[in-house]
Amino acid sequence: MHRDEILEAVDAVVRSGWYLQGEQNARFEEEYSSFIGTKYTVGCANGLDALILIWRAYIEMGLLKPGDEVIVPSNTYIATILAISENGLKPVLVEPRIGTLEINDSIIADSITERTKAVCIVHLYGRLAYTESVERICREHNLLLVEDNAQAHGCRSLDGRRTGSLGNAAGHSFYPGKNLGALGDGGAVTTDDKELADCVRALANYGSQKKYVFRYRGRNSRLDEINAAVLRVKLKYLDEDNDRRRAVASQYVSGISNPLIIMPERLPDPSNVYHLFPVLCPYRDALQLHLKEEGIGTVIHYPIPPHRQECYPEWNKLSFPVSERIHSQELSLPFGPAITDNEVARVIAAVNSFTELSEAKK
Ligand SMILES: *Cc1c(COP(=O)(O)O)cnc(C)c1O
Repeated sequence: MHRDEILEAVDAVVRSGWYLQGEQNARFEEEYSSFIGTKYTVGCANGLDALILIWRAYIEMGLLKPGDEVIVPSNTYIATILAISENGLKPVLVEPRIGTLEINDSIIADSITERTKAVCIVHLYGRLAYTESVERICREHNLLLVEDNAQAHGCRSLDGRRTGSLGNAAGHSFYPGKNLGALGDGGAVTTDDKELADCVRALANYGSQKKYVFRYRGRNSRLDEINAAVLRVKLKYLDEDNDRRRAVASQYVSGISNPLIIMPERLPDPSNVYHLFPVLCPYRDALQLHLKEEGIGTVIHYPIPPHRQECYPEWNKLSFPVSERIHSQELSLPFGPAITDNEVARVIAAVNSFTELSEAKK
């Protein structure tokens, strides 16, 4: 979509001969800040780096130190958690609600200890995870609130603010499959905190604020000019694309009538940008096979919960039943702003024709 305009933007960068840290980045950062509603945006190489840089900056600023605990949902994509442990901070997993698939704010307080210094909420599947209760808990316990906004560009809180502006800082991913996707990897940090923005920018540039002078032991994590130019084009159409996603979601919600399919609780439209369309089904694997036989491809987000991953052996024996249920029952139906009404109708018919015997009958 928007192919010609994107190619023109790419061509202009190639003709300019300037590929990093130039005008496209500066303009994209301005435009994204004004879209999200924060004072600052700092572009970086990908969404994982955005989150890593936020935590690292808080350590450099003296607000966090290795060993501090960070509360994070137990059913998130692994990158949220990697960014925390990468910095020597301790991720503390908190279960989601089965009805919303987002962190259960009523049990966050139970996991707070003297070492708890931050909460990282994840607007998973494009759904708003922020609640007044999360805000209040962070205020009362003096915790930093960081948002993982990798799946929710354009989403709004119930009072109309954009996700990415609701906490102290937010990490964004522009992986091609995200709602706002680049032609390759990209990411950004948004915040109102100048000190944090400056620190993240330096850390992402070898630790340097002044050429050849190194204040931190930094890394190289930058958004290139071609992708900044591409993102500037795509940002203009993001709200429109998200509206199309909402229209598709609406068709699914009103069309799917199979009692074996459980859809998450509906949020007001502005608070869901439908990165994906997840449903739960107790016979998930049979459902996936049934759809496959109807020529419909689906994906599971995600088949193995973080606490069962080999990279975190210390958690493998822990039990997170809500997460485990989501990971064993979730299926993401075909979805996106480019899907046609005919395709959606075909998926609805196939989903509605599924029975728990569909598999056995064959
Ligand atoms: C995609 C994603 C990330 C990581 O972003 P990358 O750009 O792929 O590194 C982090 N958190 C969540 C929830 C994601 O979906």
